Amino acid sequence: MKLPVVAVVGRPNVGKSTFFNRVLGERIAIVEDRPGVTRDRNFARTEWNGREFYLVDTGGMVENSDEPMDRLIRDQVLTAIAEADVLVLMVDGKAGPHPLDFAVAKHLRKINKPSVVLVNKVDNLGHPSATGHHDFWELGLGEPNPVSSLSGKGSGDVLDIIVQHLPDVEGEEEEALRVAVIGRPNVGKSSFVNRLLGEERLVVSDVAGTTRDAIDTPMRYQGRKLIFVDTAGLRRQSKIDHGVEFYSSLRTERAIERADVCLLLLDATEPIAVQDLKIAEKAWDSGRGLIIVCNKWDLVEKETMTAPRYEKEIRQRATYLQWVPILFTSTLTGQRVHRTLELIAEVQDQRKRRIPTHQVNETLRALVMRTKPPAHHGHPVKFLYGTQVSTEPPTMILWVNNPEGVTTSYERYLQNGFRAAWGFTGSPLVLRMRRRD
Ligand code: GDP
Ligand code: GDP
Repeated sequence: MKLPVVAVVGRPNVGKSTFFNRVLGERIAIVEDRPGVTRDRNFARTEWNGREFYLVDTGGMVENSDEPMDRLIRDQVLTAIAEADVLVLMVDGKAGPHPLDFAVAKHLRKINKPSVVLVNKVDNLGHPSATGHHDFWELGLGEPNPVSSLSGKGSGDVLDIIVQHLPDVEGEEEEALRVAVIGRPNVGKSSFVNRLLGEERLVVSDVAGTTRDAIDTPMRYQGRKLIFVDTAGLRRQSKIDHGVEFYSSLRTERAIERADVCLLLLDATEPIAVQDLKIAEKAWDSGRGLIIVCNKWDLVEKETMTAPRYEKEIRQRATYLQWVPILFTSTLTGQRVHRTLELIAEVQDQRKRRIPTHQVNETLRALVMRTKPPAHHGHPVKFLYGTQVSTEPPTMILWVNNPEGVTTSYERYLQNGFRAAWGFTGSPLVLRMRRRD
């Protein structure tokens, strides 16, 4: 499902991050138990009145200046504005209108997207003396909405207003398998997607008149609908040379969160980088299916580097990587590019698998019989039973007399045992220990 994006912009110190945290703070009880929910300063998935959306805190908007840092921030803001469906301009009700507020407002009026003015720091909201926010009518963006992010007063009302502006989500896409192609610039992501589609679609749609909504590319494969998410972002990414770091991480996070399966592309002529591992881990930890694609295999000198060797080098970087399929492709020759389509479908099927409770318990019992959990401070650790509580990713709850007593290595033993029994290749398998005496 494609979620809308709400970006909060405004000059520094008006209270953007306070507002951001306030919104997330109130919603966190709802979102915390779902996989794939990030909660950091810049970007989070949240919900209000049953409408889900991404909230982006853009950092400070600064005056035109050629300081590299200022430029970076400005680029962030402009990117956020370009990506957003609804813009929230936050201003400081205590300080009153500031020239920079007008500069931002002017920009927002030009881009013609729904905008909401939030006048923050109106701490006496509800009191007859709280009238200062009316000064912000001058910004020309409609009614200024008072809020006190610090106390939370008015935040429910402004969230009501924000979600009213969200575009309708298209429900028919829910059945589709969403795929994110991620990786560092220049590893061949656009070439890869182009090759899969068998046409120069990404490039072609770059011409004038392309609608912003065409950010995802659908295709059919064996009766399934696949959607390559944020293919527009792929195109744009290589065009933007400054502010790439922010842009790519924002893009990548958003793509991961919208996907069922992530394809992490690597350049096989280079060793896997720390950055790649971080992205892979993010996708895995957020419950996405993961496939590693080592691209540009045509450039690799096969005498010195073989596929099994490269694969081994990747797998030894983290435990979970032994469960991730690794593939060697060339978008230049087309080698194995279509094999990835099969693999995407296989991985998603694994992610959706449901193991009947009696099987979970048979396997659990057998594993515990073969290797007993080590005692904890002299007390035996006993597994009582287990059950799979959800899918995408498969999540099992194991009831145990003393959850703290289960060692990391024993948990890994169970992971390995479950995977030996059922596979789950390319999919995370979440094991949760719960106390039961
Ligand atoms: P940002 O730079 O726009 O992200 O601003 P911050 O969220 O860091 O806030 C800047 C300062 O304003 C901090 O000292 C906040 O505590 C303060 N602040 C934020 N919201 C309010 C508010 O509603 N009322 C008052 N009085 N202060 C606030
Ligand atoms: P992106 O930034 O990840 O989207 O990467 P691009 O798709 O723009 O590719 C970057 C460069 O690598 C381009 O010059 C491509 O032609 C080249 N490239 C992509 N895939 C391959 C491949 O499999 N083999 C070779 N030799 N070059 C490739």
